[in-house]
Amino acid sequence: MHDGPPPNDWSREVPSQRSAPQPSRPASPEPPRAANPPQPSRPVEAPRPRNVSLPLVDPSGPPRAAEGGGPPRPAGDAGLRAQAQAWTPAQKLEYLQTRNVGDCTRCKLAKTRTNIVFGVGDPNARVMFIGEAPGADEDRRGEPFVGAAGRRLTQWIERLGMKREQVYIANVLKCRPPGNRDPAVEEIEKCSPFLRAQVRAIRPDVIVALGRYAGILLIGTEQDLKLAQMRNRRWTYDDAGAGLQIPLHVTYHPSYVIRREGELPPGQRNPADDTVMSDLERALRVLRS
Ligand code: URA
Repeated sequence: MHDGPPPNDWSREVPSQRSAPQPSRPASPEPPRAANPPQPSRPVEAPRPRNVSLPLVDPSGPPRAAEGGGPPRPAGDAGLRAQAQAWTPAQKLEYLQTRNVGDCTRCKLAKTRTNIVFGVGDPNARVMFIGEAPGADEDRRGEPFVGAAGRRLTQWIERLGMKREQVYIANVLKCRPPGNRDPAVEEIEKCSPFLRAQVRAIRPDVIVALGRYAGILLIGTEQDLKLAQMRNRRWTYDDAGAGLQIPLHVTYHPSYVIRREGELPPGQRNPADDTVMSDLERALRVLRS
């Protein structure tokens, strides 16, 4: 429970459901970012998945977003990879969702899920929030953080002066573990390359990990760190393969904060909520520097 992965570098480690050739990778140009806006509309990795090296791209075609005016269909895998360098983050995400994740059956969660919960938000977001795994509401709707925890996350985002649509929200796992149990190691290994590919596509300015699972994964530590050991300091999400080093902050998962609230006398201020807000304000300072 909560406690306190196309054709270039951005999809390089995405696991394929079939055997695919291992592409090499060039650097991908990204659109310039607005300097210094306090309206963060513009996101990192996991411990074990780091060692997961997998094929990525399904070269069967370009992303749907590209078909009506975007890049023409490339000739083969190499052509696809070359063209993908010029895709927008939105095109990369669409390819990732439709061609790489697809109707994923890479782990047993495929048997019990209702919907794959890919991620939601602005593909050009400067801030990426990463939670643990979809719950029942998310599984039903196919969108992350839409239940009680999601409402709390949305409140936090709005208290920071942003809109939910300005950030990007994803999870370590894209499918709901039955009964909201903890993610299994094998599930994280199979699924987290998709999260890393999302980060490569979006290239946010800062990542906020919500809860311990996301924190440990994104920090890339082998240690079994507690949430208290991860919060209140700046980490770096390191993806050397993509040349990414993104500031990373870890804070409490909204479900944890809600649970704490339930233990307090009615009307009493929830210290965990205040802690999260100060963590988030610290995290977002990077957008003003
Ligand atoms: N908890 C999570 O970690 N993610 C969701 O999408 C919903 C609840």
